[in-house]
Amino acid sequence: MNGNSVSHPAAPAENNFLPGPVLLLGAPGVGKGTQAQILVAKFGIPQISTGDLLREHRRNKTELGLLADDLMRQGKLVPDDLVNQIVAARLRGPDTGRGYILDGFPRTLGQAEWLDSHLAETGSSAPLIAIEIQVDEPQLLRRITGRRTCPKCNRIYNIYFSPPRRDELCDEDATPLVQRGDDTEEAFHKRMEEYRAKTLPVIPHYRSAGRFRTVNGDAPVETVAASVLCALKDLRRVPSDCKASETGVR
Ligand code: AMP
Repeated sequence: MNGNSVSHPAAPAENNFLPGPVLLLGAPGVGKGTQAQILVAKFGIPQISTGDLLREHRRNKTELGLLADDLMRQGKLVPDDLVNQIVAARLRGPDTGRGYILDGFPRTLGQAEWLDSHLAETGSSAPLIAIEIQVDEPQLLRRITGRRTCPKCNRIYNIYFSPPRRDELCDEDATPLVQRGDDTEEAFHKRMEEYRAKTLPVIPHYRSAGRFRTVNGDAPVETVAASVLCALKDLRRVPSDCKASETGVR
């Protein structure tokens, strides 16, 4: 599970550094989920993916899941009120006290503003910091259409770039891999349109508050992870030996 309903063992914090509440931003397929999983393993804080939470609602056929179903299949955004509601519920989880990784939320300026006031009301300790992962669009299309996920352990593969050892079977538990219904070329273009129109305006919101960095996502997973860590330390004003190019100040 991508950290939405399971508890995570506390991993030893590297030099006592904990990133606190973090938001990973980026177009569909930039690797937010993969980078979030790396941070979960490193820091023992949960990943909160609104996409995963919505998919769980769909699987459980809740009222909210049924409302979201059609929009998700078309690559359109689910209304802010519904998504804010599930995030509020998830943030009440007992495992969020030491920080968390928001993956795919906020995706609109309305959600970002709601989150700011929600965190202020609930007395969140450290301010939320935002990291955008950037990848060119043609590369994103291959990533999206090649993406396969293990429905049991949620490990992510790509049939072009990081295929499983055995054809379409998870390396961990041999479960047949699945392709998300919205990982088609048609839905990708719709999702990109939504991203440009509704999510890009979120960036100035965090940038103007000095809580934003961009990292290059078109590199091996470990290189991107190192850049994300450097950007996190930079945003939290933690001394590090990162080069300026790795802290993603743009
Ligand atoms: P994701 O797994 O993050 O790519 O999300 C899959 C789909 O879930 C999106 O295409 C939207 O339809 C919906 N969704 C996920 N997060 C949000 C959000 N923050 N706001 C609105 N819709 C969302």
